[in-house]
Amino acid sequence: MQKQVVTVLGATGSIGCSTLDVLARHPERFEVFALTGAAQVERLVAQCVQFKPRFAVVLDERVAQDVRARLHPFALNTEVLVGAQALCDVSSAAEVTTVMAAIVGAAGLLPVMAAARAGKRILLANKEALVMAGGLMTAAVRQFGAQLAPIDSEHNAIYQCLPCNERGEIDNRAVASITLTASGGPFLKSSLSDLEHITPDQACAHPRWQMGRKISVDSATMMNKGLEVIEAHWLFGVPPEQINVVIHPQSIIHSMVNYVDGSSLAQLGHADMRVPIAHALAWPERIESGVSLLDLAAQGALEFYVPDLNKFKCLDLAFTALRAGGAAPIVLNAANECAVAAFLDQRIAYLDIARFNEMALNALDLATPQTLEDVVEADARTRAWMNAHVLHALV
Ligand code: NAD
Ligand code: MG
Repeated sequence: MQKQVVTVLGATGSIGCSTLDVLARHPERFEVFALTGAAQVERLVAQCVQFKPRFAVVLDERVAQDVRARLHPFALNTEVLVGAQALCDVSSAAEVTTVMAAIVGAAGLLPVMAAARAGKRILLANKEALVMAGGLMTAAVRQFGAQLAPIDSEHNAIYQCLPCNERGEIDNRAVASITLTASGGPFLKSSLSDLEHITPDQACAHPRWQMGRKISVDSATMMNKGLEVIEAHWLFGVPPEQINVVIHPQSIIHSMVNYVDGSSLAQLGHADMRVPIAHALAWPERIESGVSLLDLAAQGALEFYVPDLNKFKCLDLAFTALRAGGAAPIVLNAANECAVAAFLDQRIAYLDIARFNEMALNALDLATPQTLEDVVEADARTRAWMNAHVLHALV
């Protein structure tokens, strides 16, 4: 068997750690080429010692010096590189077969595009990149013979329920609609007025999933599901009116595909990201992920509810942005990243996130981006607008 040579972007995060957990179970299949992380020096060093990558990438020279000093006693061959260009280089290097895209937010866009243009197999967790540049990214994947395998649990579930060819390209011709499940997050049972004084720690206390802080806040507001609606549109070629969202608090059914003949196919499993990660790493085979099998009788009842779009305004905004098209999803994504960061810094209140996202979406009418540079510019203009009009006004 030819080994897969893997770059893990965002190795020190939640998805990055789950990925390395699965890779470590199958050393005969996988070899690590590069690990990247923005801040968590100790974790990155421990990962380098365990996986002995050719490269480690960090964002600034001071962190790089620290990592080099800590790695020195281990006499590894790991070279420590610095900066955004290095992220693109380790994503497109000739030796690499597979790139796990697990950087959070817009910062992941350029390395993912570099991997697509180099024809890599991309395991995509970084949903923000696809929300920003879905058309350009799917076109680059086709043009350069890359592959795109979804890691987001819902999209991985849908992918598992769709027919595809030997390159993993799906056939959506008999699809009537898709149903994304959502846990409903920590505030499913709260009323809108209960949400006024929510703290970052309360918003990050997700009942089912252990995740990074940005996606945890997005899960609480259901912006995460909104981004996933846009992600599903690009991955599966389904229009917004054929994408449904249903709240399923147990997070056992990870999503489903509804076919024209009345059949619905769903994928089930425990809420552990090692399941979709192992699926995408081994596809079209299956490998052990470290996750136990489901016992439905022990699990008990599975519930389903319609989301309240008044309470989860961000989900509604995402449908609006997807229907509007053009730069609207970029604006919404960038505004949301700024608003969530401000909320986590305790500069704005929880309910301000949706309010500011809506203001940005209404205020900014940017030209439809034609190139990657246009996407980056629309993202930057939205962030500048947020800083000037919204966030600075508060301090
Ligand atoms: P996280 O915050 O735990 O990890 C993010 C990683 O990206 C870290 O390694 C961090 O050092 C790195 N990073 C942060 N800012 C960076 C920057 N500016 N440049 C380069 N690297 C940077 O996040 P996570 O929960 O692992 O999520 C990662 C991505 O996967 C997100 O897009 C998220 O939406 C998606 N995702 C996560 C989960 C989950 O269960 N955690 C599930 C589905 C999708
Ligand atoms: Mg998800």
